[in-house]
Amino acid sequence: MAYAHRIKPGTKVSLADFDPDADGGLDKEAGTRRADELGQEFGELEDLLFEAGTHSLLIVLQGIDTSGKDGTIRHLLGYANVQSCRVNSFKVPTPEELAHDFLWRVHAKAPGRGEIAIFNRSHYEDVLVVRVHELVPEPVWSKRYAHIDAWERLLVDSNTIILKFMLLIDKDEQERRLLDREKEVQKAWKLSVGDWKEREFWDRYLEAYEAALTHCTTEDAPWYVVPANKKWFRNLAVTEAVVERLRPYRSGWLERLEAVGAKAKAELEAYRAG
Ligand code: AMP
Ligand code: MG
Repeated sequence: MAYAHRIKPGTKVSLADFDPDADGGLDKEAGTRRADELGQEFGELEDLLFEAGTHSLLIVLQGIDTSGKDGTIRHLLGYANVQSCRVNSFKVPTPEELAHDFLWRVHAKAPGRGEIAIFNRSHYEDVLVVRVHELVPEPVWSKRYAHIDAWERLLVDSNTIILKFMLLIDKDEQERRLLDREKEVQKAWKLSVGDWKEREFWDRYLEAYEAALTHCTTEDAPWYVVPANKKWFRNLAVTEAVVERLRPYRSGWLERLEAVGAKAKAELEAYRAG
């Protein structure tokens, strides 16, 4: 069973249709065990992706403040080889970035063949925070959905496997998490008055997310809505979706590695035969 909700192209997304509290009928122990098994499989597939060098993987993580983007990255990377993985966090654009088109800074961080890139926030901020706060006029941001689709298609046509996750929490869960940050020393670094201010725009963010998920879901670059009130379930759902997308490539990557090995062996034999 798929735990993350993969959006079908052409669907008008309403986030109210998804339960942020969902747990797939599992308890924490069983869910954590399954997330670990899938994590191991992710690690194996990720090694093959690196060794075969024919594809890249782009994982986009979006979600309202405290939705668990950092925690998801920590889970996935616990199983990955740092040699082939990169995390890019997209913050408020610098003046140089703002002087370019909005995709300039993200395109530079797209993964090369054999690489995995995880985007902690992404080009979608340019139709989320930018739309909510009208940082550019509507005629500018409204054209961006089509630009995003075209750009993602370009990546797909260059053998990039794309998954985009919207981590869905509810407003009460966000309040608990924000208050936790005030209580725990090790979470204090994340404290920001900005998060409380952004919270006031909750409904407008949801609206902006619904538009992005509605306009920018394709067969090859799908959005997934992830129930994320329970951290262990969020990890399970994301890891499962990634593994399910990568599995069909396994045999092709293995064939490629066998072909590479056979060629190298033939060269070695020819060399030894003098
Ligand atoms: P955080 O990653 O939560 O520490 O904060 C990063 C901040 O950068 C968030 O408040 C984002 O909304 C903001 N940000 C990211 N990308 C953009 C963008 N393209 N335009 C404006 N703000 C952005
Ligand atoms: Mg933040």
